[in-house]
Amino acid sequence: MGEPIRIFDVVGILGLDPRPGSQIAPTSSSVNFKCPICNHKGYTLNVNYQKDTFKCPKCNSKGGAVALYSLVRFNESYQKGSARAKETIAQLRQELYGGSTPTGPQRHVRSTTPAAPVIRQASDEEKNAVYNALLDLEPFKLTPEHRDHLRSRGLSDAVIDRNQYRSIPDSPYQHPRFSKETEAAIQNLPVKVSKSAIALGLMTVAALKEKGFNDFTGIPGFFKVGKHWCFYLVKGILIPTRNERGQIVCFQVRRQGSGLRYMTLSNKMLPGSVQDGISKCHVVSSSRVGGDLTCSTRIMLTEGPLKADVIAALSKEPVLVLAIQGVNVTACLKPVLDWLKANGVRTIYNCLDMDRITNLNVRAGSLALRELMAANGFEFPAMVWDDETAIKKLQELKDLAIVNQVPLPKKTGNPFTYLCALCVALEEAGIQHTEKSNYWPSRSKGYDDWLYYIRSH
Ligand SMILES: [Zn+2]
Repeated sequence: MGEPIRIFDVVGILGLDPRPGSQIAPTSSSVNFKCPICNHKGYTLNVNYQKDTFKCPKCNSKGGAVALYSLVRFNESYQKGSARAKETIAQLRQELYGGSTPTGPQRHVRSTTPAAPVIRQASDEEKNAVYNALLDLEPFKLTPEHRDHLRSRGLSDAVIDRNQYRSIPDSPYQHPRFSKETEAAIQNLPVKVSKSAIALGLMTVAALKEKGFNDFTGIPGFFKVGKHWCFYLVKGILIPTRNERGQIVCFQVRRQGSGLRYMTLSNKMLPGSVQDGISKCHVVSSSRVGGDLTCSTRIMLTEGPLKADVIAALSKEPVLVLAIQGVNVTACLKPVLDWLKANGVRTIYNCLDMDRITNLNVRAGSLALRELMAANGFEFPAMVWDDETAIKKLQELKDLAIVNQVPLPKKTGNPFTYLCALCVALEEAGIQHTEKSNYWPSRSKGYDDWLYYIRSH
């Protein structure tokens, strides 16, 4: 596996912003940085160089060098041993050592090379035009398997078609013979991209050029292979993320056969690509894609565009659903919150998955969101569902607390808040109360799951 990856080097390539006056050297014990995960205004991210760990009490993120890299670069949590973890480590090594064997002081060379010029994002109009043209291309037709998956989430064919989900194919093209120059450019990419993905990406761009699109500067997903534009593709279901006007502003991909199922389509490491702020907040209404305030009685926030689409489709009352791409990806909320505020909205319902009650890590993210909402002048009441599970879990955990002589918290009259207090008490007493994979049953973990469950039973 090569030599261990030091968090000092990772901090260097990520270009984190240290607290002014900090001494930054591999021999420092620890340094505080601006947290790029939650963007808290203080220097809340503590990096311990001796233990090679990081921790931010504001967003509750913590872990080692690779976990930090994975969260900041790809907005993905790192799962040791997963297929995706191998890719992440390979990309990190590539970035650190450029593919060569690390030797002595050269290891730090990368941290000091000047960053590539920052590419500004194109406007929502420009992105929407290119992305819509891309969705019309033949190779991206939704496969029957992917359609079946979407149906199994509770979506009707009409909604599936309206929302424009697409499939990123295996590789519909023969690998073309690349020119020598292109071959060399592929070799020089800072991240390994398979030749079949590049072939598909180049063909995609060629097809878009036929439709009159020539410049892809500032559009997330596009990058340069030598002098050619290419589109970065990861096999799976392509899920459009839309702004309040219904314009497509980024994509999420539901990946196949990977530990990490959802990711925002981005290519931060590749030449000519947009670096920051790629993940956007998704907006969907029961009446249409985008935001419809005229008939919305309830504004909800969840995590993941597909979840939001299902909620909007299955809700009996008119709703408008917002989805962030991850519970810590909140910077993208600002423009949407401004728009809602300008339209007189003051209440947004917390519709994050129910494991926010039993899993204290998820709970921390939910609480941080509530703070952010308050700071922006919004009420953020929690939506709860599936009392049956709450009451059942409550009984189980009460018994567990009694057996372990953990004092029971004061009764609250509401099974959900009481369950939450009980989980905190158990956690504080150091008692693992729930199997990690079973914080909440999957039939009602997300509000989308729950709506589908009650509609089909
Ligand atoms: Zn943080």
